[in-house]
Amino acid sequence: PADDTTVECLLRNADIAMYRAKDQGGNSFHFYSSDMTTKARARLSLENDLRRAIEREELVLHYQPIVSLRTREVVAIEALARWNHPQRGLLLPSEFIPLAEETGLILPLGEWAMHSALNEVRQLVHTGFVSLRAGVNISAHQFRQQDIVHTVQAALAAADVHPYRLQLEITESVLMQNIEATEKTLRSLSEMGIELSLDDFGTGYSSLSYLKRFPIDVLKIDRSFVRDLPGDDDDAAIASAIISMAHTLGIAVVAEGVESRAQLEFLRERGCNYVQGYYFSHPLPANLLKQLLLEDSRLSSFTGENANDASTLLVIDDDAQGAAAIEAIAKAEGYRVLLADTIAGALDLLERERVGVVLCDQRMPEMGGVGFMEKLRRLYPDVVCILASAHADFEVARQAVNTGAVYKFLRKPCDPEELIAALNGAFAAHRTAAGARVSRR
Ligand code: C2E
Ligand code: MG
Ligand code: MG
Repeated sequence: PADDTTVECLLRNADIAMYRAKDQGGNSFHFYSSDMTTKARARLSLENDLRRAIEREELVLHYQPIVSLRTREVVAIEALARWNHPQRGLLLPSEFIPLAEETGLILPLGEWAMHSALNEVRQLVHTGFVSLRAGVNISAHQFRQQDIVHTVQAALAAADVHPYRLQLEITESVLMQNIEATEKTLRSLSEMGIELSLDDFGTGYSSLSYLKRFPIDVLKIDRSFVRDLPGDDDDAAIASAIISMAHTLGIAVVAEGVESRAQLEFLRERGCNYVQGYYFSHPLPANLLKQLLLEDSRLSSFTGENANDASTLLVIDDDAQGAAAIEAIAKAEGYRVLLADTIAGALDLLERERVGVVLCDQRMPEMGGVGFMEKLRRLYPDVVCILASAHADFEVARQAVNTGAVYKFLRKPCDPEELIAALNGAFAAHRTAAGARVSRR
């Protein structure tokens, strides 16, 4: 009776207490206290504010660069939502995304984020950052409630952006619900050419077999495993294991939350492909991000070995004679040549050496059509690929060209002039992809 004076109010307060008990897992009891009403009111007012935030343009995206450890290039920018609240100032996602999820406001918020990020990346690509992609976070609620394939298609069309530019970040919890429908959705997205990354990897409970089952392109090692690197033995073991497991499955790895040079070196030694974190940059408003991309001084302050050696050709062929002929011609043109007679050997060389162009025999036993090419493009997006074949296989050629995984298709034995022209063209394309940053400086 001390909690209010009228029956209505007492019942309302009892109700609030009951909801609190249910929120905490149910099967328990809770006493009402006046701060619950305060909190409930605050939540309600935040909810009302959030409804209007999109139309009032109070939401903004900040962008954080994702950097390739091999080329030092910014390969993608992750869009992270911020709310410029008129009274409370700049709010972080943890202060409004959960509310947006509970209230369903995540759907308009998510659409807005995707549109804005795609528009931003289109502008940056036109400015000359030709290899950039945009990473957009999709919450499990969004994935469940919405026809996400349709939403994504509409956003890409509206922004006039190629699906290849979009990286969707989903979490393990998405994979664990409604597995068959999820698989179908993810396959449709993947077939459109969109990259799928698994965010906060290691914090959820997804089974490893899901990694094989779903078309995941990238794993993002959660910040909690990166924070105490390289000193913490457990985290070091976990991070190393995630990297090698992902690579075995042909999945690239991003480490989140990289703040120090020591973390970076550890990750580089383990073959981690990309890093993201305060070491390079905090998430930035679009104009500051653009400035950072133009200056790029921080990013070039760490140098990889062989960083300048962009004129290396890797020839993958199990026919030693054919390989030797190509090697002789390429060397005469001034290129450095590496040879591999298996796909595994080639991947090993790619891990250790900086390669600009790969020339691969189409009939390599482990190739599996253009599967290897696609994997190559995913792990080493700036390596340019030439496919050579003695037996023109129309279907493979068609796929290779249509997916954009292959730069040129050559007939074997190679005509020297045609080979030289292809090599020069491929290395020029590689320089454009990898060196756009260098030439801008
Ligand atoms: P996330 O997708 O895992 O994003 C990475 C978070 O780590 C970001 O937090 C980023 O600011 C932070 N971070 C990056 N580098 C470092 C570092 O070196 N050290 C530390 N301590 N932190 C670092 P933020 O911006 O607060 O976002 C939190 C989460 O909110 C995101 O986690 C994402 O799950 C969610 N989120 C953000 N924007 C959206 C959105 O538009 N839609 C949806 N559905 N979720 C979003
Ligand atoms: Mg993310
Ligand atoms: Mg994350």
